Amino acid sequence: MPHLTNPARKSHLPREQRLIRTVAPIAPSPPCGSMTNRKMSEPSDKKILVWEMYPSIQGESTWAGLPCFFIRLSGCPLRCVWCDTEYAFYGGERKAISEVVEAAVGSGIPLVEVTGGEPMAQPNCPVLCQALLDRGLTVLIETAGSEPIETLPEGVIRIMDLKCPDSGEMNKNLWSNLEHLNKRDEVKFVIATEKDFDWAAEVVLREKLDERVKAVLFSPVFGQIDPQKMVAWILERKLPVRFQLQMHKFIWEPEARGV
Ligand code: SF4
Repeated sequence: MPHLTNPARKSHLPREQRLIRTVAPIAPSPPCGSMTNRKMSEPSDKKILVWEMYPSIQGESTWAGLPCFFIRLSGCPLRCVWCDTEYAFYGGERKAISEVVEAAVGSGIPLVEVTGGEPMAQPNCPVLCQALLDRGLTVLIETAGSEPIETLPEGVIRIMDLKCPDSGEMNKNLWSNLEHLNKRDEVKFVIATEKDFDWAAEVVLREKLDERVKAVLFSPVFGQIDPQKMVAWILERKLPVRFQLQMHKFIWEPEARGV
């Protein structure tokens, strides 16, 4: 889902540490007793279409600020008007799931996020998540919530969007997903307008979302709505939500990719 668009971005990391899109890393053999061999199940040789993989910090959710290894899968059946990852709609490289898992383990970062595009649009996404869990990693998935999330293995932490009216994709919300959320999961509303805010507030209260999940995230569309106004509205209505900004857009240039 979120991030990037300008290849001329600036980053503090060397390129080879930021972006692993064309050259897959060769992970060293895991040492005995390390996180990498806690469970000795063989990773699947099923394939998955990957746009890029890179280490960065988590820019959103209650996990914001932590080092995180990102696996961005290609493709998305939605077309949110403010989408900032349109570049991931097409292309990518078909990789064996075992190769993707080795890249994540080889990064040395215990937190991994599977994102997109819309990762759940790929049928092997749950297989990838299970393979990552099997290696002892903490697995987040950022999903639009338009596909059934109950196919994901237990243990995956779901950060699920509910699409607001001015995304243009509200009719893609799969409301039955709400029944499968738990207290480790998070629900995110990306808000572009006051109309979006009113709708999101009504859904939070009607569905008692704060009682279902760890956090309800209200995230302004970068550059489209005044964050100060949104904060004032949240306080005025005493909403049980967590305001968030996309941290990576302040650390790097807003259009930067692979960060
Ligand atoms: S769900 Fe919307 S924001 Fe996410 S990748 Fe697809 S079009 Fe972009």
